[in-house]
Amino acid sequence: MTIFDKILAGEIPADRVYENDDVLAFRDINPQAPVHVLVIPKTRWSSLIGLADADPAAAGRFMAGVAATARELGLEESGYRTVFNTGDDAQQTVRYLHAHILGGRKMNWPPG
Ligand code: IMP
Repeated sequence: MTIFDKILAGEIPADRVYENDDVLAFRDINPQAPVHVLVIPKTRWSSLIGLADADPAAAGRFMAGVAATARELGLEESGYRTVFNTGDDAQQTVRYLHAHILGGRKMNWPPG
């Protein structure tokens, strides 16, 4: 059980910004940009690795939910970055698949 399982279950509060049948999106507690939102699938996967074996339609609905969240946040015109940290080298800290949506400023490349 991760903190995101608890947010999804409504057991701990989150600043929710978007929800549909497939995803829940809420603001990151430690924002790295003016807009920093996390999108989680309502079906649990530990990381992007889990999606390799997932029903492609379910994986697609998750990605559509990420894009819909960015639209809801008004980021389509300016653009935004999406990040999936996967495993130790990427310093994934919460083992529940989540997309970071970062926006509201110019991003740097390459990321650290
Ligand atoms: P990761 O490093 O890709 O696993 O990202 C986990 C993210 O979850 C970090 O950016 C944290 O700031 C964020 N986070 C951890 N706990 C909470 C919470 O309770 N609410 C919202 N965001 C959280």
